[in-house]
Amino acid sequence: MLHSLTNNAKLVIQFKRTLFWLTNDNRFYSANKIQNNDVDPLRLIPFLLMHVGCVGILFVGTSTAALVLASILYVLRMFFITAFYHRYFSHRAFECSRKFQTVMAIVGCTAGQRGPLWWASHHRSHHLHSDTNKDPHSPSQTGFWFSHSLWFLTPKTYLTPENHIKDWLIFPELKWIDKTDWLPFVGLAGICYALGSLLNTFFPGLETSGAQCLVWGFFVSTTCLYHATYAINSLGHLWGTRRFETRDNSRNNSILALITLGEGWHNNHHRYPRSARHGLYWWECDIAYLGIILMSAVGLVWNVQKAPSSLTAKNQDAT
Ligand SMILES: [Zn+2]
Ligand SMILES: [Zn+2]
Repeated sequence: MLHSLTNNAKLVIQFKRTLFWLTNDNRFYSANKIQNNDVDPLRLIPFLLMHVGCVGILFVGTSTAALVLASILYVLRMFFITAFYHRYFSHRAFECSRKFQTVMAIVGCTAGQRGPLWWASHHRSHHLHSDTNKDPHSPSQTGFWFSHSLWFLTPKTYLTPENHIKDWLIFPELKWIDKTDWLPFVGLAGICYALGSLLNTFFPGLETSGAQCLVWGFFVSTTCLYHATYAINSLGHLWGTRRFETRDNSRNNSILALITLGEGWHNNHHRYPRSARHGLYWWECDIAYLGIILMSAVGLVWNVQKAPSSLTAKNQDAT
């Protein structure tokens, strides 16, 4: 009797922990562990599994349809991260309606980079404390790999530091999206599999399948998306040129700009974070900005912020 009671109590505790995990609840970690800055194996495992999933290409093969799906999902989700998680939610570089903001918050979660409030709060912390010991991801402070892909796997970065995103807390729907950020991400995996199965049934000539679209569209595309985004936090502060003498080590890098739709103009961005345009000259390719201009032209967004013309006119630090 006593034994079954103990087992029941253990089950309840385990159920609660799982629930806390699934809703990003601060009770998941004990008060003394929440400040721990060591990588938590429990958080590392799902991240590693995304990489292991890519090995599936050896078993499912490839097809033009699967490659096209992977490319579309890469570009689309990079745009959601770049234009919305970064330029909108983190820097308020433009405005849009509450409905559109909600839709973009949900589709942004399909990138598997936590919710928009979590992302924006840590990014704002990065700008506040760039390349100091308070920066959540600085290669000069904690080394390349920690700044690239380990900093978000620690108990310390599990929660959303709400003091940095007080302006968004008036929207309860954003808080809910942040709490269940994994739902759209897992949903995308299901959509990839279902799409591949449908193509296999109705268009067998495409020679694809549910498993193939899952591996290429979800695992491969997401893993590439991960490392391109993370490269801005790591390489974006190590590799490239510095047009402006900012307080940090941010760099401009055309290769990073190409693979991240414009985020590689990171030194420009640190000089004037509010600007929706990161590539300051016509030759500084900034595809996300073109997308923002397009959305502005059709009335989806407005009040698009730009860096002062003095920055480009003098081509030097205007402070
Ligand atoms: Zn930076
Ligand atoms: Zn930023």
